[in-house]
Amino acid sequence: MKKHNFSAGPCILPQEVFEKAAQAVLDFNGMGLSILEISHRDKAFVAVMEEARALALELLGLTGKGYQALFLQGGASMEFLRVPYNLMKVDGKAAYLDTGTWASGAIKEAKPFGETVVVASSKPDNYTYIPKEYSIPADADYFHCTSNNTIFGTQMKSFPETNVPMVCDMSSDIFSRTLDFSKFDLIYAGAQKNMGPAGTTLIVVKEEILGKTGRAIPNIMNYQQHIEKESMYNTPAVFAIYTSLLTLQWLKNLGGIAAIEKLNEAKAKLLYDEIDRNPLFKGTTVKEDRSNMNATFLLADENHTALFDSMWKAAGISGISGHRSVGGYRASMYNALPIESVQVLVDVMKELENKI
Ligand code: PMP
Repeated sequence: MKKHNFSAGPCILPQEVFEKAAQAVLDFNGMGLSILEISHRDKAFVAVMEEARALALELLGLTGKGYQALFLQGGASMEFLRVPYNLMKVDGKAAYLDTGTWASGAIKEAKPFGETVVVASSKPDNYTYIPKEYSIPADADYFHCTSNNTIFGTQMKSFPETNVPMVCDMSSDIFSRTLDFSKFDLIYAGAQKNMGPAGTTLIVVKEEILGKTGRAIPNIMNYQQHIEKESMYNTPAVFAIYTSLLTLQWLKNLGGIAAIEKLNEAKAKLLYDEIDRNPLFKGTTVKEDRSNMNATFLLADENHTALFDSMWKAAGISGISGHRSVGGYRASMYNALPIESVQVLVDVMKELENKI
């Protein structure tokens, strides 16, 4: 029986995507060949790559606005490094907002490239909120932020107004909510949350910000090289990209980001309302910054842990243990998670209250 999968990533994808991807492993497009055994230069796969790149831009509302979409490898962690390589000038400066483990990982990778200014950090408060009062140096080569903090369960609800290029790690909330994506000059996201299996990263970049650093960039690190080669500089992650395309098609058929946003808001409201109502539970972040993707919470009394854990497991729930670095619980409610699964979790929380 299919579990209620609240995993933080890799995570649940739409059932029809699993089925179509499985079929393509056996026979891709009726070719008599598996998608895993054809050349990435085969016109059938080139068409997949072209459609995936175009559809990513279309869903973000960025078609015809000077952006390029790439599907590269190395995870979002590789983009922590590619971003300063491609955007920080020699003797330049970059500004970063530190909102969690992944944001601080990005900062670490930027430091060897030049002056790396942390404009604000919520680390002293264990990343329980998103800093809002800060200024971005006008001479920074770019500003980097993390839209959703997968581990700590916070999400940026607004973004600063700035004249410097804005870079955003959207790994855990891409395609989940409407934003004016044209405010960003570079967006990146590992596929393994709202898009596909692990193995590829979507990068959406405004071409005009590239080529200005004055530094020699190795080809594999160079966004311009990847754009020129139409995201096929090296063998792309064919299966991860095909499966991502299936998810993007699913999202488009559903009505796009605006439609899924409504569902995501309903799911998050259902769970947060119960966390706030039920005296046995407490949220871990300030309310205004709560993530609609990853809800983090604790039991008010840890003595109830064994009972609660046995109850949610018996209800067919999987993947709600908090990240190993913070403990507690984390329910990830990505695009493909049905609201029925959230209801099952809420029912277990209510049942615990009845039992105690
Ligand atoms: N950024 C964020 C917001 C993440 O959630 C993660 C991983 N879950 C990463 C970066 C790192 O991604 P990857 O493992 O693909 O390198």
